[in-house]
Amino acid sequence: MYTFLSVVVASTVIASSTFAKSPPVQVPSNAPPIISDYKSRMGANNLPRSSRHQGLDVGGPNGMAILAAADGAVKEVDVGTCWGPTIVIDHGLGPDRKPLIAAYGHLGPVSVKAGQRVKRGQVIAKLGNNHKEFRCIVGVRHLHFQLGRKWRSGAKGTYWGHVRYLVDGKKGVNPHLYWADGPGKVTCFQKGNSYPQGTLTYPAPCK
Ligand SMILES: [Zn+2]
Repeated sequence: MYTFLSVVVASTVIASSTFAKSPPVQVPSNAPPIISDYKSRMGANNLPRSSRHQGLDVGGPNGMAILAAADGAVKEVDVGTCWGPTIVIDHGLGPDRKPLIAAYGHLGPVSVKAGQRVKRGQVIAKLGNNHKEFRCIVGVRHLHFQLGRKWRSGAKGTYWGHVRYLVDGKKGVNPHLYWADGPGKVTCFQKGNSYPQGTLTYPAPCK
């Protein structure tokens, strides 16, 4: 007598999660260049970094506008000893329902205040002529744009650099996962266009 056991193998569908991998990155030719990308080992000055880059560096001329990458609330405006003028914006939740906190660092003149709401594409600052004044700007004028999940509110103690603004500064979130046109597709902001909530547009103006 035989007993037949019907073995049911749970068919596990392993979805290739959009948010798990690093997509190939396409930067529109009319966008100001990424001079050091997320996870790069090379700095904006083309010299090796001591650790992988946790954000994006966007190069540009003195006076280049810096744009809010999405609607949001300005949490903080600060001048870091290393980062220079910096804005932290809470951009709400991404399509994955995770918080998107953006630190915009190495700025020149800032045109927003803490507590203020901003709209996507709004000019929040400009690049300045201070790239030799702040060590973290490494002598090359650029925006450092970094995403995290948690803002460092309150007392900063001796924190400097990314961890001064983002509790998870050492584990930067990949901005290429959140572009409005889809993962890896750097999306220029164009006035009059509408973009899905929780997605990002490029923080510098395309031509
Ligand atoms: Zn950087």
